[in-house]
Amino acid sequence: MPKMVASRNLRICTKDCMCLYVCPTGATDTETGQVDFSKCVGCGDCARSCPNSAISMIPLDYPHQQPKDERVKEKVRAIARSKAAQENIAKKIAESADDPGLRILMTAVRRSDRLMGEDLIRETGYLLPQSGEVRRMLESFVADPPEGFPVEAAKELLSRMWFNS
Ligand code: SF4
Ligand code: SF4
Repeated sequence: MPKMVASRNLRICTKDCMCLYVCPTGATDTETGQVDFSKCVGCGDCARSCPNSAISMIPLDYPHQQPKDERVKEKVRAIARSKAAQENIAKKIAESADDPGLRILMTAVRRSDRLMGEDLIRETGYLLPQSGEVRRMLESFVADPPEGFPVEAAKELLSRMWFNS
């Protein structure tokens, strides 16, 4: 069992100080409002006493992620491919729908499929840089390319990729 420590969420803490009364080591009584990890023994009394659930017990050391078996990766990729297919179907329906409600629904389905697909692909070890920041960065490099920047490839990428924002 990894060593646990208390972490206080200052956004929901109302400073009623129950955690200060129950802590056996004084770890909750700090100037910053955060729990002093060096004093915390992980008993959890503060988290149980907090009326606002502002304290969570968290492990100090997270276990290493388990390596993914190739068969698991292949299954995940297959689900990601089916999500991509569903995304395309939803896109086509959204583009041809006369009913505004159906268009909105299919656009939501399309986005949902995209997000699920991205999560699945990330799970198999790939990072998909599809954020608006990446799009803007590519556009700025195409407009004013640094030396050796592959402008045509970036244009191709910009024309093919559906960015999230
Ligand atoms: S008991 Fe909860 S709400 Fe009260 S001071 Fe501690 S963390 Fe904040
Ligand atoms: S877990 Fe126990 S020792 Fe740590 S801050 Fe909370 S009450 Fe104090």
